[in-house]
Amino acid sequence: MTDMCYESYIAFTGPFLELCACPECSSAQYETVTQGNKLVPIPQKQVLTIPVGPQIQAQFWSRESAWNMGHRHQVMDALLARLCEGGSIDVYDDVYCSSTLLEAAMHGDLMPDNVVLIVTLPLNVSLDLDLEMACNT
Ligand SMILES: [Zn+2]
Repeated sequence: MTDMCYESYIAFTGPFLELCACPECSSAQYETVTQGNKLVPIPQKQVLTIPVGPQIQAQFWSRESAWNMGHRHQVMDALLARLCEGGSIDVYDDVYCSSTLLEAAMHGDLMPDNVVLIVTLPLNVSLDLDLEMACNT
């Protein structure tokens, strides 16, 4: 479990690991509760974090799941070939049909072995990514 701010979505991890108060709203990381005759600090809020890097890496440990990880490339390769021949996409039935992904592949920003991670977040969450760190996991 990772401690997080009670008032926001800041987690006390990474660059905030050594902080005792939220860098956004100054809320304290801990509250003090009485246990017996002692005052004990406990995190005000915690969240379960599952690092995605190791989860993705684990998909390449078996032949079958590694083959399945190539599904995006197989589908998008056929779509790109059709588009390059002047064709069109008849049915937009998959995220692979998105113009964002197709344009990234056309411009060489999305290579066959790349993994695409799609994240959906609540509107009130701002996400500060350390891209260098994210790309190395
Ligand atoms: Zn905060």
